[in-house]
Amino acid sequence: MSQRELIIAIDGPSGAGKSTLSRLLARILGYVNIDTGAMYRAVALQAHRLNVSPEDAAGLGRLCEGLRIEFERSEAGDRVLLNGEDVSEAIRTPEVSLLTSRVAACPCVRTALVRLQRSLGEQGGVVLEGRDIGTVVFPRAEAKFFLLASARERGHRRYLELKEKGLVVDLEQTIAEVEERDAADGAREHSPLLQAEDAVAIDSTGLSIEQVLEEMLQVVRARRRHSGLPDMPRGSTV
Ligand code: C5P
Repeated sequence: MSQRELIIAIDGPSGAGKSTLSRLLARILGYVNIDTGAMYRAVALQAHRLNVSPEDAAGLGRLCEGLRIEFERSEAGDRVLLNGEDVSEAIRTPEVSLLTSRVAACPCVRTALVRLQRSLGEQGGVVLEGRDIGTVVFPRAEAKFFLLASARERGHRRYLELKEKGLVVDLEQTIAEVEERDAADGAREHSPLLQAEDAVAIDSTGLSIEQVLEEMLQVVRARRRHSGLPDMPRGSTV
């Protein structure tokens, strides 16, 4: 039987560069990129639309049962489909971001999404990004990263991202929202944001994307060797 490709877990707080780096790594390796935050966001959007309170565990459970979340890959970027509708933009508003942290604290939402994430990733050849990938979803992932950056830098990155999308945002408010989400994600009872013991931590404050990517690629190369996989093509970079 041929050795399966790696499962790569990337965890960390919001704005630490997970999405960009997961996408780049997946592209270089020819892996599938799974943005688990987008899944929690899709549940929050649906809860908002159907007026289900984030405190209503039974309601959220019912909502998850009937939900179809899919990723559509294209050159222009991945799109997130909720019951067939493209919600890629709608799930990224500041309002949905804050609601997502509350919805994601519900154990039944986590159970449903973790099951889906495992079924999408268990064959390997995947990069999953989130908060609990290395600790809960795939504790035996071959490569685990924990990306960090100061709250100020993460808030600033988020601010630029939102502004580029044409949203009217305030820098200090965006930083405060990042801190609010950090507090909610770190303090929740179920699967709080935690660094796995065997994760490689990278603080990207003041580093370029290329520098962080190179550090990650070194780890991936070593894990490939360790797993008996062929070396990546020379000069594998973006
Ligand atoms: O990564 P992103 O900022 O899109 O995630 C949105 C929210 O989804 C996070 O603030 C967190 O509350 C939740 N989340 C989670 N577990 C994951 C991924 C995201 O609880 N694996």
